[in-house]
Amino acid sequence: MNIEELISFSKNNLSNQLIDLIIDENNFKVYSKSIINKEETTFSIIKDNLEKFLLIVSQFENQLTNKFDGEKIDNSKSLLIKICKLTNNNRKALQTIFDFTNPTTIGKNDSFGFGDRIGLANAGHIRSLEKSIFKPILAQQSIRELTRTNRTAEEVMDAAVWAVFQEGYKNGFGADADHLKTTADIDLTFNAGFTMFTFDPGEHVDNNADHYDENKLLSVVANLPWKELNDTFPSAERRYLKKNFLISEYLTLQVNETEFLKAYAKYGKAIAHIKKLYEHLKNISNGKPFEVEVSVDETESVTSIFEHFFFANELKRLNVEFVSLAPRFVGSFEKGIDYKGDLKLFENEYRKHLAVTNYFGNYKISLHSGSDKFSVYKVIGSIKGANTHVKTAGTSYLEALKVVAAKNPSLFREIYDFSYGLYETEKNSYHVSADISKLKKENEISDEELLELFSSNDARQVLHVTFGKVLTEKNLNEFLFKEKIIDCLKENEETHYEFLYNHFRKHLEPFE
Ligand SMILES: [Zn+2]
Repeated sequence: MNIEELISFSKNNLSNQLIDLIIDENNFKVYSKSIINKEETTFSIIKDNLEKFLLIVSQFENQLTNKFDGEKIDNSKSLLIKICKLTNNNRKALQTIFDFTNPTTIGKNDSFGFGDRIGLANAGHIRSLEKSIFKPILAQQSIRELTRTNRTAEEVMDAAVWAVFQEGYKNGFGADADHLKTTADIDLTFNAGFTMFTFDPGEHVDNNADHYDENKLLSVVANLPWKELNDTFPSAERRYLKKNFLISEYLTLQVNETEFLKAYAKYGKAIAHIKKLYEHLKNISNGKPFEVEVSVDETESVTSIFEHFFFANELKRLNVEFVSLAPRFVGSFEKGIDYKGDLKLFENEYRKHLAVTNYFGNYKISLHSGSDKFSVYKVIGSIKGANTHVKTAGTSYLEALKVVAAKNPSLFREIYDFSYGLYETEKNSYHVSADISKLKKENEISDEELLELFSSNDARQVLHVTFGKVLTEKNLNEFLFKEKIIDCLKENEETHYEFLYNHFRKHLEPFE
């Protein structure tokens, strides 16, 4: 069939075969899952060498084709063929045409957060979810990570949307503005199109409250911003003291005065701060749907069952609606490695946290630092009726480095050596425990052993905490590693996707 025949054959809709023909003529690779027709115009993602483009084909220029900046290609068939760069503007144009490319709210459904610090992993993430009940949160980045990687919220969104389009993923995805601390953080990410907002009131949590004596507790609590809490100390006492809260068949909560004071001393200001953030978001949202997660996972002290109940109960009283809550659990959720701690104790606590969640009924538990917590997934996966959000980020960066180790060992050696040297200074803002004296130096490792580093907890953490420096360090005006890593991932795209697929299948299977 020649092109003329194809055109008359497909009448108003240019067919997929036509796209294939154009691709063959020009030697592009086409991402077949991306091919889609709309109003006599066909769109798809193609790759020319290492760069990807949006290909638009139509019989005539029309209002859809005019939305995109790109280069028109002369062709003997007098078709409108436009090759467009995957820019921020073109991404926004795409979102006005295909609704499935807009992030959405996920609600109480099981969801999985895939932070992607380099911006090339989301397609692999989407593939890993093929048969899963989990909904993906693709754009997921904290302000801290944006700063560390020198990326903007818009860039993170661009990467997610193009990946969704490339994979033809139409089941809906979320976008999580993670660990927001201020109203300015909210503005920035709301304007970039994020739909999920994770509030982190950590700076307003008093981690010392567990160690205060009665007098100190009383004075801290008396000085809380009661007005902002729409409350008074005496009425708070009436709400909690000498009460039985029947959480479930197996769990009744009572609180003595000390526990009550501790909960307020620890979280009182944090609750007031969340209320402030929530009201700000509601004001600027102008009716656009959004969802909120509340996280206290990065605080030092463990969230007790009563404190979880108290936190949720107070937010409810203040009309703060949230879809997930991330407590600080018992045991250690270190970066990039499995859970450290007593799993039986974790299970007991988790069941109680879950009972509190079910008591309120309108949110799920969120697991931060969720990368590689395989033993914890097993526990949660075995409990029925547990809706969960799992947040991961660093583990995808490690999979990217694994591709580098497999495909460009000498580049990986340089990165490993660089990270090794930086670990002691970079580890400070992370929850990690790697002992580098246990690790071999780069020149003591054979090429075959490089991949084994990814099974070593010490090596994982060394590579994990140094991502910011690895991705931003420059020698004069040139990136030391960033461009080389990106090229390696682009050259080995299918290997990268395959590594991610296998890695996240391991994360998801315990829940299925
Ligand atoms: Zn977190």
